[in-house]
Amino acid sequence: MTTTHTSFPLVTVTGWGRERQLVAAADVDTGVLLLAEYPIAFARTHPGEDEAGPWLLLELIVSTGELFERVSAQDLKLTKWPLSQEDEERLEQLARKYRRNPKKLALLYHRVAANNLRYTQEGVTGFGIWPVLSCVNHSCAPNAKVCATPPHPLAELLIATRPITAGEPICWNYFSDEAFLGQDWFQRNAQLHRDFQFLCRCSRCEAERPAQFAGEPAAAVIEALRGDSRRG
Ligand SMILES: [Zn+2]
Repeated sequence: MTTTHTSFPLVTVTGWGRERQLVAAADVDTGVLLLAEYPIAFARTHPGEDEAGPWLLLELIVSTGELFERVSAQDLKLTKWPLSQEDEERLEQLARKYRRNPKKLALLYHRVAANNLRYTQEGVTGFGIWPVLSCVNHSCAPNAKVCATPPHPLAELLIATRPITAGEPICWNYFSDEAFLGQDWFQRNAQLHRDFQFLCRCSRCEAERPAQFAGEPAAAVIEALRGDSRRG
């Protein structure tokens, strides 16, 4: 499947395994604006609400018929992970409160959890869904960055941070800060798994993957990372 977004001529969404990715549709130079996008749903948060942010976004979507339809209609990334009992209870409460089908709501929860981004700019902080931007995968050797722009509140810009060749996947560092990139394979992947529930398959991680994990299935590596983070 290949979809060209005519409003963003420099990028194309393509299939990537069972998921999707954004690739460059032309050669671009450092500093080029690849994509500018507004969120289809956005929930403002107050200081101290970061932890609850994705839930506040989910409740906003669930409580508004129009938003519920709009977000449900999007072909968003779907990453499922086991829910805690607390999460299950929260979902049941939301389903009752807004009279939503529990199965549809659980699916929406996973979509929101996998695609939400935290936004902060000029005193506005919150969590939202930028559908095209959410196709951009993480890399520990990124070729683009995401940033906000004061004149356009809630718009997110995707900017090339080095020359990109046509057909090359566009990736950014989900942690935004440079310090994350300075860490070794083990530290990066433990953090990625803790916050985003995945094992990184970027070119840098493939090259730096410790010999002890060579050829190991992702589930076994994740189990080892979990054990390591438990040990602190
Ligand atoms: Zn990586």
